[in-house]
Amino acid sequence: MKWRTHTAIAKAIADVLGLDGSLRKALSSGSIDPDRRPDVTLRVSGRGRVYVARAPHHNPGLRVVMRHVWRARRSYLGGDDFEALRSLGRALHYIQDMSASKGFLGLSHDSVEGMVALLNIPVKVIEEGLSSAVCSPHYIEKTVRQVKPQKDAGKALEEACRASASVAGAVVGRKNPPEGLVDDFAQARRRYWSRTIPVAAAASLLFLAFALATQNVAVALGAVSGYIIQLLDRRYHYLRKEAEWYGVR
Ligand SMILES: [Zn+2]
Repeated sequence: MKWRTHTAIAKAIADVLGLDGSLRKALSSGSIDPDRRPDVTLRVSGRGRVYVARAPHHNPGLRVVMRHVWRARRSYLGGDDFEALRSLGRALHYIQDMSASKGFLGLSHDSVEGMVALLNIPVKVIEEGLSSAVCSPHYIEKTVRQVKPQKDAGKALEEACRASASVAGAVVGRKNPPEGLVDDFAQARRRYWSRTIPVAAAASLLFLAFALATQNVAVALGAVSGYIIQLLDRRYHYLRKEAEWYGVR
């Protein structure tokens, strides 16, 4: 997307949130920051060399977006609203770029973005996104995953506004955990340590013992099963992430 579009969406979100001077600027400058100071990712070349590359804007991957989202949320919980909005802006930049189709070989990309820049921001979409947002990292992940590159300029802008407002609303939502989360997480954590971990450890040890007994190194790889078993405690991992979103440990 063009800078004009990034900053216009930031302005619309700031209006609805009622942000003042410096916080408006933080969100707006964060929204164009990745083009000025790109994120980098580590890549492996065909020859096996590791090198540093610019994170792709139109397909940055969930991890790049979530890194900024988590940074924003932690700053917000810590009371640093300026940093929170800057990081949020960075996350929104990528989400907005993901909304515009690159087209075949990226040929139509500039024309879609050029047309988007001429459109007015659909304020209603921004309002709806902000008011319907759920304050949860899982909700944000789902929202980002659902962003599809649009070929039509109007649809691309709408997609960008809907997803941006939803994510913004989720990041600067409530600070205190929802009812029941702290207790549910404490219970899941007890269960994780008293049942899941012992079972996982037993499975790993069994494979290691069997590998020793049979002198078969390949069998030792079965020790990974312990790691996998603890991952299967979905409820614990889900609640842990939700709890972390509210700074609950
Ligand atoms: Zn960009």
